Amino acid sequence: MTDIIKILPDNVANQIAAGEVVQRPASAAKELLENAIDAGATDVQLIIKDAGKTLIQVVDNGAGMSDTDARLCFERHSTSKISEAHDLFALRTFGFRGEALASIAAVAQLEMKTKRADMELATLIQIEGSEVKQHTQCSAANGTSIAVKNLFFNVPARRKFLKADATETSYIIEEFNRVALVHPEVSFSYYNNTKLVTRLEKTTLRQRINGVFGSSYGEKLIPVEEKTNVVNISGFIGKPEFARKTRGEQYFFVNNRFIKHAFLHHAVTSAYAEMIPDKSFPSYFIYLAVDPKNIDVNIHPTKTEVKFSDEKAMYAIMKSAIRKSFGSFSITPTIDFEVERSMDFSNLDTSREIKIPTIKVNPDYNPFQTTNSARPSGSYTPPKDKNLPNWEKLYDIPETQPEIDQKFNRVEKAEADMPEEITGISFFMFAKKYILTPVKSGLMFIDIAHARERICYEQLLRNMENHQPMSQGLLFPQRVVLTPSEGELLGDVLNEIRALGFDVEPFGQNTFVVNGLPTDAENQDAKDLLEHLLESYKKNQLEAHLDKKLNLARSLAKNISVKFSRNLTTEEMQSIVGELFSCTMPETSPSGKKVLFVMTGEEIEKKMK
Ligand code: ADP
Ligand code: MG
Repeated sequence: MTDIIKILPDNVANQIAAGEVVQRPASAAKELLENAIDAGATDVQLIIKDAGKTLIQVVDNGAGMSDTDARLCFERHSTSKISEAHDLFALRTFGFRGEALASIAAVAQLEMKTKRADMELATLIQIEGSEVKQHTQCSAANGTSIAVKNLFFNVPARRKFLKADATETSYIIEEFNRVALVHPEVSFSYYNNTKLVTRLEKTTLRQRINGVFGSSYGEKLIPVEEKTNVVNISGFIGKPEFARKTRGEQYFFVNNRFIKHAFLHHAVTSAYAEMIPDKSFPSYFIYLAVDPKNIDVNIHPTKTEVKFSDEKAMYAIMKSAIRKSFGSFSITPTIDFEVERSMDFSNLDTSREIKIPTIKVNPDYNPFQTTNSARPSGSYTPPKDKNLPNWEKLYDIPETQPEIDQKFNRVEKAEADMPEEITGISFFMFAKKYILTPVKSGLMFIDIAHARERICYEQLLRNMENHQPMSQGLLFPQRVVLTPSEGELLGDVLNEIRALGFDVEPFGQNTFVVNGLPTDAENQDAKDLLEHLLESYKKNQLEAHLDKKLNLARSLAKNISVKFSRNLTTEEMQSIVGELFSCTMPETSPSGKKVLFVMTGEEIEKKMK
């Protein structure tokens, strides 16, 4: 029998590889842009025609190549960036395997001009489908220009598979942005069909984000920064109030390359939980610096997914960094409270399980104790530690690491101390709905209903956590008949409902007897309240997939706080403001509504002009 195994010719092998590396014009654009950056360019131009189907060209002022390198770079596995397998792990950047140019050249008509500063003349190379058509000298500027023409000219099936021009163009722009967003020190231009569309000058990161997304975009962002021995995090996150209904600008970069990471994405969104309405998405531009040996890179030039060896620790650090950022920035311009800016995770034992934070309970504490409150009127004492949530539990760090505990506490304390910053306390009502109070940097407006929702919600969570429901017995027990589906639902959540303060017993046939209602809801009609509660519970369940308890607490808080319209006494206002600022997240209600904002002195002055 004759042998049947053949080694594929190079051009066929290259075409096969191209199938992986070059899926569409945008993938070629990405490879060329990254090569330009790797060559140390400080100015990069991207030129496309017909959505990249006719032309994708990148011109850079980087190192350029020698004549021999210029020829070699189109060979498979030709790269100047790694020489041993070992290098794969030592690289700051990743994804090299010297396949990009070979692959692109296999499926396009490519023309390259390249010149090193120490050479007189540039090299010109033309390749079509891996075949070198021309290799000569020419004159050109220092740097490299690669023009990829008629992509997939020899693979018609691929060409047919391309989407409409607008779509392919948007993919290219996305790649351009991803590179531009990590290299503010490089200037970029983007030309579409000979028209200059975007010119990004060399600048700072924040300005670069503005350059890419519009001049006032930066105002919607707050910085995030965290240095640990596992990862250094820097960048910007969107202020919660600018979260959008569509999945917007969400960028992770690891060691200067764009990546996707579902787990870290989850860490970010969970840090935003309750700060933004359901089904809306925060923007983020988060730059991670990780020791390459802790990254498990799937060495594939187009792979944007990586795996970290310390994912759980990264998750916790990410979430905490973002929370800290909210703490220090979202209210900072208005209340200016000091926050310990850097937490030390260096002793963090990353092998430990990470626990969801729980909340400590103070059973004697009633957010709506108002006129008959024991609180002395006149002088206002900010709430002290006893209501503070239990941050340290987040990492469940053993006693032997007290410094970390202390640092967490310090951050939290800074938040809780906020009302102390309120100077010369005076409170005014407006429209029976808002409390106005002067703070250091301006005039603070607080929406009472939203504030009560937040206070009540956190109180309910504490009660549930502590198995100490706060209930008011009814003078006359009330018999409530529900519809069969409501009855079934209530049966399902009976324990949780009781934990909220409902004293309720099933009485058969969708009938329940209510003996007591949660404190603050005692004046409501039991049937009404239960029906509303079950309805919002159902809605939350559908839309937000919340945990049963969180969902019920959120629903009840909303139902208790929703109809608010009356004048409050000064003591009542003081009390609400005090309770509000002892909450973990005073700025937003659990359903994502804004609780407060500050009109700054500057803004007021402007209006007076
Ligand atoms: P890789 O980037 O993985 O090394 P490529 O196929 O993208 O593989 O590029 C092969 C080699 O060609 C690079 O390692 C580099 O030495 C050289 N090269 C590619 N593009 C440029 C450029 N714009 N300027 C200078 N050298 C380049
Ligand atoms: Mg490359």
